[in-house]
Amino acid sequence: MRRKSKQIILKTDEEVELIRENCLIVSKALALVASLLKPGVTGEMIDREAETLIRDLGSVPGFKGLYDFPATLCISVNHAVVHGIPTKQEFKEGDIISVDCGSYMNEFYGDAAYTFALGEIPQEVEELLSVTKTSLYKGIEQAVHGKRVEDIGHAIQNYCEKEHGYGVVRELVGHGLGKTMHEAPEVPNYGRRGRGPLMKDGLVIAIEPMINLGKRNVATAEDGWTIVTQDKKPSAHYEHTVVVRKKKADILSNHDLIEEEIKNNSNIREILIKN
Ligand code: MG
Ligand code: MG
Repeated sequence: MRRKSKQIILKTDEEVELIRENCLIVSKALALVASLLKPGVTGEMIDREAETLIRDLGSVPGFKGLYDFPATLCISVNHAVVHGIPTKQEFKEGDIISVDCGSYMNEFYGDAAYTFALGEIPQEVEELLSVTKTSLYKGIEQAVHGKRVEDIGHAIQNYCEKEHGYGVVRELVGHGLGKTMHEAPEVPNYGRRGRGPLMKDGLVIAIEPMINLGKRNVATAEDGWTIVTQDKKPSAHYEHTVVVRKKKADILSNHDLIEEEIKNNSNIREILIKN
């Protein structure tokens, strides 16, 4: 997301359920993507299918028109980090494809993302995906009442940067979410333990590590949207929307739906979480 700061708005249980419904629609759209991805398919094709599903489910794509973004899905391939615009370019064996999706229904948003590996990918890229996905859950573990926002970033940064030597993108961050897609607080994927806004029960945030195989530095591509790594090495992105609770966060989006489809699609490689 783009950086901006406003007041933190805690959500009621009823509002959390509305956000959960949107997150479920997003998860279903990403599961549809998981069922469709194969070499030869294009970003424009899956974008069209995802939009149709979201509208059939009674919702509206959350990104389309937001800051004038032109599509339902952000599709970011290989060295693209996030915010890629779907194109006519065919996917090919060995691509990693980050797909980010939003939904807007009943005055609330939902948000989630997943990086798919098409066919055989280099071992070091598979490791990047696995570590990035694992880091998402390390971040979520910190999203509890009484901790601070940078505890999340610290956990992600420590794991990805210190333990694995990857680049943690600084320019883009996770975010609060509710009646607007991007609201306070910012949720960086880096930080210092015990710093940042205090998290309270009812805080809804999207946690979304964007992790580079190489250096952390990014640039904006010529299309004015796509964020790419400066060193052209691949980047991964996994995202959940969660609500902060007393003992542990409640994950509102659902990657299981996506992974069931991945299991059924021999073109996509399963990416496992590390212990
Ligand atoms: Mg997203
Ligand atoms: Mg997000």
